[in-house]
Amino acid sequence: MNELFLLHDASLKRYNTLGLDAVASNLYLPFSQEAFKQALIQTKNKTRVLIGRGANILLARAYYDDSYAFIVTSNAGDLRLENGEMVAEAGVTLDRLAWFCIEQSIGGFEFAEDIPGTVGGALIMNAGQFEYTIGMYVNWIDVYHPASDEFKRIYPDPDFFGYRRSKLEEEGAVVLACGLRTPPGESMKSLEKVLEYKRERYRKQPRNYPNAGSVFKRPTKDGETYYVWKLFEETGLRGYRIGDAQVSEKHPGFIVNLGKASQKDVLDLVNECMKRVKQRFEIDLQLEWKVID
Ligand SMILES: Cc1cc2nc3c(=O)[nH]c(=O)nc-3n(C[C@H](O)[C@H](O)[C@H](O)COP(=O)(O)OP(=O)(O)OC[C@H]3O[C@@H](n4cnc5c(N)ncnc54)[C@H](O)[C@@H]3O)c2cc1C
Repeated sequence: MNELFLLHDASLKRYNTLGLDAVASNLYLPFSQEAFKQALIQTKNKTRVLIGRGANILLARAYYDDSYAFIVTSNAGDLRLENGEMVAEAGVTLDRLAWFCIEQSIGGFEFAEDIPGTVGGALIMNAGQFEYTIGMYVNWIDVYHPASDEFKRIYPDPDFFGYRRSKLEEEGAVVLACGLRTPPGESMKSLEKVLEYKRERYRKQPRNYPNAGSVFKRPTKDGETYYVWKLFEETGLRGYRIGDAQVSEKHPGFIVNLGKASQKDVLDLVNECMKRVKQRFEIDLQLEWKVID
């Protein structure tokens, strides 16, 4: 049975939550873990771009030629309980993970339900909210290391994850699966928490336009941490627009696509935001988004 599909000159619009139009010369769609490995093996000579839900990426090009290979993981994602831990393949979505935990009375993953993304993408940037991050729950990670062409299991040390970063990214590793701890929880309490978080996030965030979450990491200067949306507020960036890309009126930490934003609109807007914050506060903003160039 064929579980790996390769599309040529395929639209990436549905594979990035910002909804930018881009075309990939090579788009691999694996439908099982084995097919995912096959895709990795077949793309050794290409610049690989892994995509989970595309909820944290900026596709900076309109066309990715034959030197690139996009691999979308979200069609292949098994999630199961095994020897007292959860085994989650890279393509498991975070909402599915959270609901599985509610159903199985596992606590601690409520934070993940409303974060669009997959386990693979979440591990790369240690996704989370409040005091919770995915990295807190990881026992092991199965990875592929392109540099050494090796599949192996790693056990993260205490420095492995940080604020919106992980060593996976620094090492250029591809996430295949991970083992997650299963702290005991209470289904109904977890459900309440999930709904409470969701309500709060829908109240604050611009969910009516395509976006890719927070654009920048929270910066620190002289030991103090700043909220990006406040810096933007003070530099008059709330609602600032270039083409169809706009700093959200509702939550200035987000950039939204009002409909037909181009790569250039978004990149110009990102640069304008960085420039204004640098000029006014002497702060260098760092992108939380991953720019695919
Ligand atoms: C409305 C909204 C709200 C959000 N809220 C939050 C929030 O509260 N907290 C938070 O942390 N984030 C938030 N985000 C950002 C986003 O949801 C997270 O970063 C999420 O982890 C992205 O997962 P993904 O699978 O979509 O990753 P993608 O965007 O597909 O990829 C992100 C990066 O990971 C790489 N990657 C993906 N899969 C793999 C893999 N298997 N192996 C190796 N590399 C891989 C990609 O190449 C890329 O560099 C939000 C986004 C949106 C749109």
